[in-house]
Amino acid sequence: MILLLLILLGLLVYTLLAELEKSREPLPPPAESCPGCTRLVAGDWLICPHCRTLLREVCSGCGRRHALGHRFCPFCGRPGERR
Ligand SMILES: [Zn+2]
Ligand SMILES: [Zn+2]
Repeated sequence: MILLLLILLGLLVYTLLAELEKSREPLPPPAESCPGCTRLVAGDWLICPHCRTLLREVCSGCGRRHALGHRFCPFCGRPGERR
C-alpha cells in the first residue's frame, strides 16, 4: 500500500516538473508594428511582408541582424551602412 502511494507521489512530482519545464520555454520574439504600414510583424522578421519596409539591418561585418538606426553594429562594432 505504501509502495503504491510512493508511486503515485512520484508520478505527481514528475507531472509537476514536466509542467514547470514547459513554462520555462523561451517566448517567441514579441510582435511589433511595422513602421511603414503599422501592421503587426514578428520581432525577428527582416522585411515587412505587407509593404516590404526594411525592419532589420543585416550587419555586413558579422551577419547578425540588429534594429535599424544604429550607427554601429551592437555585436561587432562595425559602422552601419546608412544611405
Ligand atoms: Zn509594413
Ligand atoms: Zn556586426
